[in-house]
This record gives sequence, structure tokens and C-alpha cells, in this order.
Amino acid sequence: MASRSVVVKIGTSSVTDHEGGVAQDVLDIVAADVVALRRDGWSVVVVTSGAITAGWSVVGDGRSRPTDSITLQAVSAVGQPLLMDAWRRAFGVHDVSVGQVLLAPLDFSHRGQYLHARSTLEALATLGVVAIVNENDAVADEEIRFGDNDRLAALVANLVTASHLVLLTDTAGLLTADPRLDPSATLIDVVTSIDTSLANVAGRSRSGVGSGGMASKVAAARIATWSGVTTIIAPAREDAPLVRAVGGGREFGTTFEARTERLSARKAWIAFAVASSGVLVINQGALVALEHHGRSLLRVGIETFSGDFYEGDAVEIHGPKGEVIAKGLVRVNADAMHEGDDVVVHRDDLVLLRRA
Ligand code: GLU
Repeated sequence: MASRSVVVKIGTSSVTDHEGGVAQDVLDIVAADVVALRRDGWSVVVVTSGAITAGWSVVGDGRSRPTDSITLQAVSAVGQPLLMDAWRRAFGVHDVSVGQVLLAPLDFSHRGQYLHARSTLEALATLGVVAIVNENDAVADEEIRFGDNDRLAALVANLVTASHLVLLTDTAGLLTADPRLDPSATLIDVVTSIDTSLANVAGRSRSGVGSGGMASKVAAARIATWSGVTTIIAPAREDAPLVRAVGGGREFGTTFEARTERLSARKAWIAFAVASSGVLVINQGALVALEHHGRSLLRVGIETFSGDFYEGDAVEIHGPKGEVIAKGLVRVNADAMHEGDDVVVHRDDLVLLRRA
């Protein structure tokens, strides 16, 4: 792992102003922070939102934001160059060049493409260029879109084996309740493990323009912390927000501690990046063999299965009560599942998901 490597994601509500235009002042602050960190030996990748909102501020003519995906995709194509122009200006002041990298979920699902994207990001870093990443909204089909850049940023952090992921947003961090509903809500400083109660705290809060909200930030923090990446949710509109977020000061934002038992990049890819093509429901004996003895999943341990999967595809593994136990890559095609007692998912291709 790069010991000092950070992926910083800035949400739509911070990247754009009230009229929907790009908030150049915020980008300037973040760029200055990125430059300061690079001088200190950090490598930095920026994940930016805001293309759709910025695009609509130009072609929307004051109308409310559309909801149909085709129009949103088209609008992103208008906003993306505006966004890049603003980032180019923000970094240009410091004589630093930027490069645009647009990624879609399929780039993470196909391992070859995943490694290719990693090489591109590494090459940009070698050239001294700051990579500015966004989802490839203009062409990504609605069904295969990430839709929120929090998850994209977590996967990028995994991709570049970052030490830190910083999600800059329009709140102070993760609060104990939605402050609009409960004025006594307070900031949670540190999260050591992400369990279901935390997902409830995060709720479904969202700001008007972004698509993520707190729930998607906590989900992203889970992906990142399982990948060994310390994650910080912090306010964007502050002095030196990025420098303070990675500085380890506990009084700024919410820090999610990285798990010490870090998944390898390949296992994190299996667990969080690649889409499932089916479900295997296993019996109690197989559950114990997987969770307590680190075994592979054999055909005899499978009660039922669904989905049309082929060798190498990812599947979810559910316990007898329907609980999600693991994710893994199958070695057997769905139509050959009734033959023999072969290894269906080898332990090397299996990630247990129930450890907090
Ligand atoms: N990719 C979207 C955009 O640039 C943002 C998604 C999000 O809100 O996180 O407009």
C-alpha cells in the first residue's frame, strides 16, 4: 500500500453553488490542499461530482432538474467539461496539470479493465498530473450506473491502494441523527466498526442536489475500511479541509478506522466491485466449514441456488436463514451444478462478509 495516498471525493452540494454553477472558490481551496499534501509526499486522486448539476445550470433555463435518465446523461455531457475547466483553473494557479478519468461500473467488474484503470492512474501520478475522476455518466446505462460517487470513490481508493479516503460534503461529518429533524444531533468522532445500527443512524438523509446522502457515505466507508483504507467524512466549506481530514485530528469530521485485517485488493474486488450473477444457499454444516474452518464451499454444502452463472462469475452465498454470509467466484457453471462434489467456490475466491 502507498503509505501516504489519499482519494478525496467532493460531493455535488459542495462542488456547485446555489445557482448550480461550479463553486470555483471551493475547488480552489481543495486544489490548494491537494498541492500542499503532494509537497508533503502524498499522492492524491480527486473524485468529483457535480457534472449534472453544473450542466443543468446552463441548459435548464431555470426549470427544475429533470428525473429521466436519458436527459440526465445528456446534461452530464454539458457539465463535465465545465467541471474540468474549473478544476484545470484551480490547479493551474499552482502550475499543476489535471487529467480527466471517467469510470463506469463495468470498469470495476472486468478484472482486466480494473487493472488497466489502475495503470492509467499510476501513470498519471508518475507524470505529476492530478487525476480528476467522475462516473462516465454520459454513456453508463441507468441499470449499471453507480449513481453516487461515494461508492465510486471507495472503489478508486481500493484500486490505488490508498491509505485514506476523504468524503468532503456539506455536513460536519456523521451525526447521531438528522440535524434537520433533531437539533440535539451531535458529531460522531470515530467509528471503529460499521454495523447495522450505524447504517440506521445514517438513515436516508440527502441534500437537494447530490445523490448520495449519509447512507451511501457509510456504505462507501465500509468498502474502504474493509480494503484497509481509513475513511473520513468531513465538511468541504472549511479552511484546509483535506489537510485537516488526513492530519488525524479527532476534532474534525468523522473518522472510520481501517480494519487491520485488510482484504487483499483482489478479495475487495470480489466483495464489493463485481456484480453477483446468482445466489447459493448453503446448509449449516457448510456455514461452519466456511466461517470457522476457512474451507472451500463444496457442492454437497449447497441446498439450492439461483441465477444463470458461469465459471468465474461472482455469486452471493446465503446461510440457511437467508442471511448473506459471503461472496465468491464460482468454479462451476449453473447448468453443471448437479454433477459431482467438486469445489464450487474455492477459499481463495471467497470473502466472508459477516465479520464486523
Ligand atoms: N456523477 C454525478 C455528477 O457528476 C454525481 C453523482 C453524485 O451525486 O454522487 O453529476
